[in-house]
Amino acid sequence: NKQVILKNYVKGFPKESDMIISSDNSISLKVPEGSNGVLLKNLYLSCDPYMRNLMSEPKDTVGGLPSYAPGHPIGGYAVSKVVDSEHPKFKKGDLVWGTTGWEEYTLNKSPDSLFKIDHTDVPLSYYTGLLGMPGMTAYAGFYEICKPKEGEKVFISAASGAVGQLVGQFAKLMGCYVVGTAGSKEKVDLLKDKFGFDEAFNYKEEADLDKALKRYFPEGIDIYFENVGGKMLDAVLLNTRLHARIAVCGMISQYNLEQPEGVHNLMHMIYKRVKMEAFTVIDFYHQYPKFLETVLPLIREAKITYIEDTAEGLENGPAALVGLFSGRNVGKQLVVIAHE
Ligand code: NDP
Repeated sequence: NKQVILKNYVKGFPKESDMIISSDNSISLKVPEGSNGVLLKNLYLSCDPYMRNLMSEPKDTVGGLPSYAPGHPIGGYAVSKVVDSEHPKFKKGDLVWGTTGWEEYTLNKSPDSLFKIDHTDVPLSYYTGLLGMPGMTAYAGFYEICKPKEGEKVFISAASGAVGQLVGQFAKLMGCYVVGTAGSKEKVDLLKDKFGFDEAFNYKEEADLDKALKRYFPEGIDIYFENVGGKMLDAVLLNTRLHARIAVCGMISQYNLEQPEGVHNLMHMIYKRVKMEAFTVIDFYHQYPKFLETVLPLIREAKITYIEDTAEGLENGPAALVGLFSGRNVGKQLVVIAHE
């Protein structure tokens, strides 16, 4: 059973060498009788920024999730196949998505939180992104937190990524004016040509983010979907419209800093009566059936598109994961271990 093992707790930017590939052949391919567990063959692993948090020493993690243990496999969201089951809800051959180990096989002793995959007329890998956790994040964050109205002016950071590309497309379907920012020309082109954003710019080429935002939003921003934090948030605060909403989804620019940057322009929230609300996707999973009802038809009618960046093989997992923090990924980053 090949695994991706955390070597030691991580400080600062994660490196590929913080993880090693190892084999544990002690796993049995049968679930103990009467145990309620399932044995999963993991197919597609999802690379997600929050996984960095779990690589920190327990005292440094935020959000109450337990750190990974050095010497043991890391874990995250994935699409897996049930190869043996003692749980009444799952049978051999079922496809599921949810959290699992970064390894070929995982014995899940309490599989109640796994989602069964019933619709396989779309790519199975989508359940790591568009139809999985990042998709639900985009859906909950945009509709529930931003509460968009037709014609509003929407700005999205990390816009070409797993969550951002979908938020932008939801906003376009709603009839909003949508601008995204990303860290390369290739990504900026994708935002405009593939995802239908009205405008996009490379934040790395802008010496003055406030000026850049004034160029694209001369009348200000109604909705900011926050994925990066730091200087971008500060610039947005200078450019909000009356009653703007900021959905704080993530702040990836801060995850590897020992001392997070300060935010200086919060006072502007008062002048503009801005509502800033943070959220985590796990509070919205009860809406998953409604989400599928909305999004599956949009995929089938080609009203939504999705770009994935696929690494082949568990050996390439560590590089794919740490690549999120340098913007190496173009679209949703995943790792294929097996196709079935
Ligand atoms: P992405 O697919 O967007 O990958 C991360 C991207 O972030 C990189 O490709 C890079 O793109 C950008 N990035 C990395 N470092 C920086 C930096 N210092 N400054 C600006 N941009 C940077 O990731 P996801 O779509 O999966 O996640 C997006 C955000 O949503 C993250 O903050 C994540 O933590 C958050 N999230 C929150 C959830 C919740 O429940 N609240 C659930 C899921 C995700 P580029 O080339 O454009 O710089």
